[in-house]
Formats: sequence, structure tokens, C-alpha cells
Amino acid sequence: MRLTVIGTGYVGAVHAACMAEIGHDVLGVDIDADRIAALTRGTPPFFEPGLSEMLMRAVDKGRLRFTTSPVEAARFADTHFVCVGTPQHPDSGAADLSYVEAAVDGLAPCLSGTGYERVLVVGKSTVPVGTADRLAARLRATAPSAEVVWNPEFLREGCAVQDTLCPERIVVGARSEHAEARLREIYAPLLEAGTPFLATDPATAELVKVASNSFLATKISFINAMAEICEATGADVLTLAEAMGRDSRIGPRFLAPGLGFGGSCLPKDIRAFTARAEELGLARSVAFLRQVDEINTRQRLRTVDLAERLLGGSFTDRAVAVLGAAFKPGSDDVRDSPALVVADAVRRRGAQVRVHDPEAIDNARAAYPALQFALDVAKACERADLVLHLTEWPQYRDLDPSALATVVRSPVLVDARNTLDPESWRSAGWSLHALGRPGPG
Ligand code: NAD
Repeated sequence: MRLTVIGTGYVGAVHAACMAEIGHDVLGVDIDADRIAALTRGTPPFFEPGLSEMLMRAVDKGRLRFTTSPVEAARFADTHFVCVGTPQHPDSGAADLSYVEAAVDGLAPCLSGTGYERVLVVGKSTVPVGTADRLAARLRATAPSAEVVWNPEFLREGCAVQDTLCPERIVVGARSEHAEARLREIYAPLLEAGTPFLATDPATAELVKVASNSFLATKISFINAMAEICEATGADVLTLAEAMGRDSRIGPRFLAPGLGFGGSCLPKDIRAFTARAEELGLARSVAFLRQVDEINTRQRLRTVDLAERLLGGSFTDRAVAVLGAAFKPGSDDVRDSPALVVADAVRRRGAQVRVHDPEAIDNARAAYPALQFALDVAKACERADLVLHLTEWPQYRDLDPSALATVVRSPVLVDARNTLDPESWRSAGWSLHALGRPGPG
């Protein structure tokens, strides 16, 4: 089948490459000409395991091409996936839908005269409930042959290719059997492999995504609230989380206490959901999400405060090494990265900060030019008074604490992700501290 993918960022580039991989002819569309030029050469605009090879394969086979032209997109196919950003609005917590509207408004006038009887505009962006219907109303005047469908995206950065090819579910919110059937046909290879397909209306499909992200965010903030209680009472939040997670009704995932969530999705999605609920007069229904957000933001501040306490109450003229810049391991995405928010707060309070990350240094440097960066861990830690472990890259678990102890000025470590082995660090002479856990005593 032929389809287009409008917006070739983290979601769109992966979706386009994966749709080509399962046999479709795909045209990726973006307004960013540099991005389109790079993708045309088979170069992804970001780090994502497995994407580069798949992209190159699809481009070489001629199954995947890229353009900046909405006219070309309209002529190429009758199914258009919309994967543009829906960031937080600059003036409020609401979602900024201007990119989605611009993408649809750009396509609509090009749809007439293309010869396609029925056109599908398939939203994958995360949007407030009601958006599909609003877009459908917008399209009715200019493109009456177009139907709007919502097919929310659940991929996780760091395993986006795997999540797209073997998703846990595909949700499609459509108002016609025709639209549902076309989506089933597009995803046929995944459905044959056993992926559940949930067909519903557009509003429910939109809500599945924001409700899922709200639930995950709530689980993380719940355990971080427990970390605060543990600190005040001398209890150990890691043992608490493990014991809770072994209850199959609760489960261990997203119950890792630490610095909390960041990235381009969870923080803005819970704020957008809150804003939408307020618009609907239902603020009280999701009032708890404000607390989820507050608890999450507080973890960043609490980490900075702990670091300052460990340095005797002042960062002035102290050297702090930061391990991790990406918002999570396996990604070079630094959007709302808790690690960089903490690193920058420490710098602003007077410390000299050197940040290491295996993948995200270029993006981190662009977002935080005032921070210093190091290409290896030892360089970042050289003569440091304090080391902050802020993004749980697996390679940090394999560090040699004894070797690192020889390069720092003072072997003091905050493990804000609770993934380092306290025993091996402490036996190598480190004073290791973590939120919600008993200190070194
Ligand atoms: P992104 O910022 O990485 O990419 C958006 C792309 O859209 C950019 O390349 C931009 O140039 C392009 N664009 C903007 N306006 C356009 C237009 N009018 N026409 C064509 N292209 C246009 O965003 P993302 O992280 O891929 O997220 C996209 C959507 O998917 C968001 O709604 C996000 O919440 C949602 N989502 C993201 C993830 C994730 O992990 N990143 C996961 C699930 C859902």
C-alpha cells in the first residue's frame, strides 16, 4: 500500500521506516528541509537503536522517499499519517495544536483533483480528546472526501523500532468501517503476528494515549512520594518498591524511585490532560495530576538540595560531575531531561559542572550551552568534589568504582536513579547517597 507520514521526528521517522519495512511504499513529509535531506541520504535525525540500518535499507530499496511538498504527498497516497509535534503551549499547560492544524491545513487544499475517492488522515500525535472531531470539521469545507481517524502512538524512545514492529496493541478510533478496514490492511503483518487490534471511536482512541501516560506518570510519582516518606522514617524505598512490585496486581514496572520522569511526552501530556479537563469543566476528575507533576518536579529540586548538603551547604567553586544528559537511557533526546535540569540548577548555584553522556552530548550542548561536557566518564569526574548519577545508562553500572575513586577529588556519589550497586561503590571507598534510601551511616 502507499502511504505518507507527515512529520518525520522521533515518531514519524520510525513509523515511516517501519511501514516501509513491512512492505508499504512510504513518502515521509516534513517542513524541515535539512531533516528531509538527511533522511533522503538514509541518516536519521536522532539516535535510535536499529533505525539507521532499517532506514538505509528502505531508502536503498526505493520503498521510502522524503519530500517537503504537501502537493506531492496528496498525489502519492490516500492515507496520511500525521506525526507532528504537540508540545506544551508556551503560555499554558495546554497542548499546542498549531503544528497538527498546520499539517492538516497544508494537506487539505492539495487533496482535490488527486483522483482518490476516500482519503484518510490518520492522527498519531498525542492530542487532547476532541481534536479528531475538530480536525474533521475543519476538513469538511476544503476536503470533503477526507475522514479523520486516530491511531495513537505508544512507542518508547530507545526501543521505538521494536515497539512499532511488535506493539503491545494497536488502537484505532474511526467512524467508518472503511477506515477501520484500511488500517487493518496497513497493519496486517503485525496483526498476523498476534498484535491485538482495538477498534473504537476517535475520542476513546485519543483518551487511551493520554490516560495511559497519566497512569504511568502517576505510578512514578507515587513511588517518589513514598521515597520522601522513607527518608523521614528511615525506611528503604527500594525494598518497599520491590515488595510492592511483586504483587501481581501492582507489578514492578514504572515503580523505580529516583529523579522522576522527563522527556517530550509524560510531563506535557499530563499538563495537557489537566488543561483539557478544565476546559470540559472536569478539573476535579484529574486534579491529582497536578500533584503527580509537583512530586515529579520536586525530585529534581530535592536532588539539587541533597547535592548541596553533601558539599557542606555551598556549590561555590566546587566541581560536580554529572553522569547522564539524555532524558532516559537509549535515547539522545534531551527535551525536559531531568538530568540536565539538575545539572543546570547546580551550575546556576555556583558549581563548575561537567556532564558526560554516551549519546546526547550534542543535543545537550545545543540546549544548555553554559554547561561543560566531557566525552568520557573519567574526564567528567576529574578532580570532582561530587558525582551525580542522573541518567541510568547501562554502561554506568559497569563502571569501575575503584578506578574512578582515583580521579575524583572526593569520592562522593549521588545515585539519583538507584541503579548502581551500593556495596561495590562503598567498598571502593565511595560515600554513596540516594533519595529515599538510608545514607552511608
Ligand atoms: P518531533 O518534534 O520529534 O517531530 C515532529 C516533526 O514534525 C518535526 O520533524 C517537525 O519539523 C515536523 N513538522 C512540524 N510541523 C509540520 C508540518 N506542518 N508538516 C510536516 N512536518 C511538520 O516530535 P515527536 O517526538 O516525533 O512527537 C510527535 C507526536 O507524537 C507528539 O504528539 C508526541 O507527543 C507524540 N508521541 C511521541 C513519542 C515519543 O517518544 N517521542 C511517543 C508517542 C507519541
